[in-house]
Amino acid sequence: MDITDIRQSFPVLNQDVNGHPLVYLDSSATSQKPESVIAALDDYYRSYNSNVHRGVHTLGTRATDAYEGARENVRAFINASSTEEIIFTRGTTTSINTIAYGYGLDFVSEGDEIVLTPMEHHANLIPWQQVAKKTGATLKYIPMQADGTVTVEDINETVTDRTKIVAMAHVSNVLGTINPIKETAQVAHRHGAVIVVDGAQGVPHMSVDVTDLDADFYVFSGHKMLGPTGIGVLYGKKALLNQMEPVETGGEMIDFVDYYDASWKELPWKFEAGTPHVAGAVGLSAAIDFLNDIGMDTVHQHEEELLSYAFNQLEKVDDLEIYGPNERAGLVTFNMKDVHPHDVATVLDADGIAVRAGHHCAQPLMKWLDVTATARASFYLYNTKDDVDALVKGLQKTKEFFGNVL
Ligand code: PMP
Repeated sequence: MDITDIRQSFPVLNQDVNGHPLVYLDSSATSQKPESVIAALDDYYRSYNSNVHRGVHTLGTRATDAYEGARENVRAFINASSTEEIIFTRGTTTSINTIAYGYGLDFVSEGDEIVLTPMEHHANLIPWQQVAKKTGATLKYIPMQADGTVTVEDINETVTDRTKIVAMAHVSNVLGTINPIKETAQVAHRHGAVIVVDGAQGVPHMSVDVTDLDADFYVFSGHKMLGPTGIGVLYGKKALLNQMEPVETGGEMIDFVDYYDASWKELPWKFEAGTPHVAGAVGLSAAIDFLNDIGMDTVHQHEEELLSYAFNQLEKVDDLEIYGPNERAGLVTFNMKDVHPHDVATVLDADGIAVRAGHHCAQPLMKWLDVTATARASFYLYNTKDDVDALVKGLQKTKEFFGNVL
């Protein structure tokens, strides 16, 4: 598929915003959806909407087949060994909370350590703070290099025999840092700890193989990978999931219920209480098909090309500070000297350019960067060099505007 075809598959991109063609550079917050995903949702609601796993009627069977088929599609996409290890959740945040409360509270005790990095999104930070508070465990941070990376030596230094959990982003949503997950998993396992990988910015942008990484838990959100909102994935090794109690209980997840006790269904349904987001799973599956048609290596390569072009072109903008390492995922986080990032984003928006400004749900990282907020432009498979050119022009205009005002 060439880039023109790809762009044409995303109806939202084909519009003017504030009188200018939309330049969407906020895919790290949420990605746009191709026609095939929108059509899959539409088809589900129009032709076979039904609850799953209970009805014997035809629509119920169709919905169940589609829902369980989506699970298999997810399994293959991340190379998990079994669909028992693929749990549908509302997204990354819910997945991490399920692990923190379902695993953390039961397997972490006073005096134990939970190891994190300073670049974690709040979703992979606050649940662990809560576990630490409730259990008496200690939070420890792997130090970061000046460029926003962590070294395997420092990981080795930080993780000890007291460490029970290492929680780490695969890819930082602010710095674009790609963390050494495989090496960290080895260190964690050597000390008898488990690794929880926040893959919210990993799976959408690169080929991920949870078996090769040897991740114990790996979580992500559908909406950042062309799928709908409200659907996400918790991958966990079967042996660990089997040890865990479900955090949510109720309908759908039970085997047998009596007045005073109940038993649970087998994996993965034990963790899916209530009516699931069937349409979401169907839409996510269509998103995976779309990504597979293009190929994750092609997606990754496209973003790398855009990133290196962006690095080059952004040199034309004066007084721009770019944060994060040179080798990184397809996003650029920056500040313009003496201009608040919200003002940068507002001026860009007037020209139809959508970037994110704020703390990006990573306030400790903002502290580490010694800023209160930053602007961020993030790329995906539908972005082009023209989008980068528009960004550069918009930033030059911002600079001129504020240069004259200040
Ligand atoms: N982790 C990272 C690295 C993220 O970028 C995000 C989304 N910004 C999340 C977690 C949370 O994802 P969600 O809001 O879909 O639960």
